[in-house]
Amino acid sequence: MTYHRPTCLDDAVALLQCAPVEVIAGGTDWYPARGDRPVTSDILDITRVDGLRGIRAAPDGWWIGAATTWTDILRAPLPPDFDALKAAACEVGSIQIQNAGTVAGNLCNASPAADGVPPLLVLEAEVELASATGQRRLPLAAFLTGVRQTALQPGEMMAGLWIRKPAPGRAAFVKLGARRYLVISIAMVAVWLRLDGSLIAEIRIAVGACSPTSVRLTALEAALTGCRVADCATRFHADHFVPLAPITDMRADAPYRADAVQALIARAITEAAL
Ligand SMILES: Cc1cc2nc3c(=O)[nH]c(=O)nc-3n(C[C@H](O)[C@H](O)[C@H](O)COP(=O)(O)OP(=O)(O)OC[C@H]3O[C@@H](n4cnc5c(N)ncnc54)[C@H](O)[C@@H]3O)c2cc1C
Repeated sequence: MTYHRPTCLDDAVALLQCAPVEVIAGGTDWYPARGDRPVTSDILDITRVDGLRGIRAAPDGWWIGAATTWTDILRAPLPPDFDALKAAACEVGSIQIQNAGTVAGNLCNASPAADGVPPLLVLEAEVELASATGQRRLPLAAFLTGVRQTALQPGEMMAGLWIRKPAPGRAAFVKLGARRYLVISIAMVAVWLRLDGSLIAEIRIAVGACSPTSVRLTALEAALTGCRVADCATRFHADHFVPLAPITDMRADAPYRADAVQALIARAITEAAL
């Protein structure tokens, strides 16, 4: 087993051609998932690759490199559109986990309960995937294909995320767990919205831990557009929640999750609108 720590992206993607090699960033998902099994494959640690750590603002959006940690997100001067992502950053594990764990690792791990996904879905983030043959971008919703499944192809790694600048809005993230700290989500909700006075001019709502991958509730978004913030909860209808498929597991049962989601959405809208 060799532990590779390249400093340039070309070297990193070249190493990906030499199977088997596993990409790690913070290792906060990867190492616990090994349990007591020995590591037999080579490891490609991307944390020293030049240009992969940090957030860069461009005239039309923001770039978040694949080695950017949750703590980096918390410390970055970002507009209120990113408040849901920042709130999620505070909720991922403990401070030690936030210092090591990356946003990209959270996405590539593709857990249905990954706290980073709903805030990035409401920002309509795109992921950039790099390989020896070049780079491609795809929407985050298309990248996450199932429980622990992504659109990453052999020889590819995530280089970063791209977030196009929206019309200025505000965002909120609400997480429900069995306790207040260091907890995996029973359900979580991210909302991004733009107000026109007390009316919702535009809204995006994403729900996590209630389906194989986090999803946007586009029918609900349409129903709430033009609605007064105070009236939102009265517009909820069962049809709006059809994309969700909550399961019963050790954390909560399906009917509880389905109920809780509606309360979380109402709370997130109110918080985002404050
Ligand atoms: C105690 C504890 C508490 C936690 N609490 C939470 C929580 O509350 N909420 C939550 O969402 N998560 C939680 N996690 C999970 C984890 O910390 C986060 O998902 C974190 O963001 C993972 O980032 P990482 O850099 O450590 O990923 P890694 O462990 O390095 O990688 C995760 C997976 O992604 C792959 N990968 C990583 N980077 C890339 C890349 N650039 N390209 C391709 N593949 C890549 C790896 O091969 C691996 O399969 C917790 C973990 C622990 C140990």
